[in-house]
Parts: sequence; C-alpha cells; structure tokens
Amino acid sequence: MRLDEFDPNSVNVEDQRGSGGRGFSVGRGGQVGCGTLVVALVLSYVLGVDPGQLLGGMEQASAPQEQTGGPVAGTNASESCKLDQASLESCNALSSLNKTWQPIFAAAKITFQAPGLVFYQNVGSSGCGSAQSAMGPFYCPEDQKIYLDTDFYRQMDQELGATGQFARDYVIAHEYGHHIQKMTGDSDQIRSAQQQNPRAANQLSVKLELQADCYAGVWAAKNKDRLDPGDMESGLNAAHQIGDDNLMRSAGRNPNEAAFTHGSSAQRMDALRRGMQGADDNACNVYMQQ
Ligand SMILES: [Zn+2]
Repeated sequence: MRLDEFDPNSVNVEDQRGSGGRGFSVGRGGQVGCGTLVVALVLSYVLGVDPGQLLGGMEQASAPQEQTGGPVAGTNASESCKLDQASLESCNALSSLNKTWQPIFAAAKITFQAPGLVFYQNVGSSGCGSAQSAMGPFYCPEDQKIYLDTDFYRQMDQELGATGQFARDYVIAHEYGHHIQKMTGDSDQIRSAQQQNPRAANQLSVKLELQADCYAGVWAAKNKDRLDPGDMESGLNAAHQIGDDNLMRSAGRNPNEAAFTHGSSAQRMDALRRGMQGADDNACNVYMQQ
C-alpha cells in the first residue's frame, strides 16, 4: 500500500522504548478495551489457559521493568516514527486512518478523537495495566491508545506466515477498528452484554473482533487507489493465519469453536473482504445485529 508519509502534527505518538516506560507523550490524552491478539492466543493455547485469564494476569503484573539495550525512544513524534521502518509504516498507517475516519465521523455527527499510538519494547505501561509484548498489539479503551511492540511484525513474518506491508497495515487498522467501536459505543455495549452473560463472552468478543476486521477493510477500500497488486491477498492471508482455528491447530490443539475469541480464519477473511467490498462502515454493522 502506497501511503503518504505521516503528518507529525496529526499523529498522537508516545514512545516508551528503551526507557522502562519513561517516554514522552505528544498530543491529546485518550480513553477504550484491550483486544487479545495473536501471541496471547498462541500462548494461551499453548499454556492451556483462557486468554482473558492470561491478560488479566498480565494486567496485574508488577511495574514495568527497566529495559536495557534496544532502541532509544525518540523525543518527539517525528523521531519516534522514524526510528525504524516498522515504526514509520505504523505512523503512516495511523495518519492515513485518521484522515479516512475523521470525515466519516463528522458526517455521522459523532465526536471524533484520534487514538494514540504507543511504541514500547517488551514491557510497557498502559491505561489497561502492564503492556507485554506477548499480548500482541492491543487497544486500550481506558486511555484510547494502540499499544505496539514492533517486534510483533517480525513474529508475523517469521512465525505466523503473515507477510507483507499490507498485513502490518491491517494490524494497525484492526486496532483502530476497536477505537471506532469505543467512539460508536459498540464496545461498551458488548462489554455490558458480556457482564450480563459471561457464558456468551467469547461469542460476543468474536463479534467485536470481526467488526474491527471489517473496519480495516473499509479503510483499505477508501484508499483503494493506493493499494498495490497483492495487497488484498496479503491482508486476506494475514486474516487467515490469525484465525482462531488456525492458531489452535498451529499450537497443536483441535479447534474448539466455543473458545474462539477473534473468529475463525474463514470468518476473519470474510469480515475483511466485506469491508473491502462494501467500502462503507455501515457494512460492518451486521456484526452487531447478529
Ligand atoms: Zn482485536
């Protein structure tokens, strides 16, 4: 995907790398719910525990440890975004997502607030508790920030078979989808439904995750003149690789639909495709209506 270089004034970036959680913060503060992602799922499958428990445990973990070595945090958005290629791609995607979603919210007369992007390495701190790279990228509804250890991109490429720049853009666009859900109120609605009916918690989680995939597709569709040949395939492959059934199989377990929290490979590919083909955020309402 050929994205413009980020506008340093339009991205809200925070950098906790190389400083044990002490970084700088630029721009507005934020507020939304942690999506468990791939590695947490892989780990939880391997460990045989519920991903929610794993995350809950992590959130209660002790304060971030002092990091030594590794990249030194930038001192402003431009420096942080240009620290390496992975950071640059993430900021470019974030900038494009802001530009794409802001007018959609304006048209719907819903207040728009851009989410923050927090870079951290291994361990960081978030409004949802300790951020650990094993959790994979996640969105915290409490502070409305996306948390990313860019080493996840290496894992995607080398361990999950989700290759290509667009696969990485899709990760940011998916987390951004959770921010959209915070602003529309869908995530709060699902969260209270989960509290009322804990037995349906996983099923309800799948709805949110698929809707976030769909929103990622809508963003791609609205920028389709920037897509390169192969991007759609790269995104769909990533959606396939990180489907719950595929991750369970990779971890040596039989896929168990009741334990799905993000949706099967087929469902995730379908959700991304639905967004890409519909090119309209209303196309993603279907997940809340089911
Ligand atoms: Zn998610």
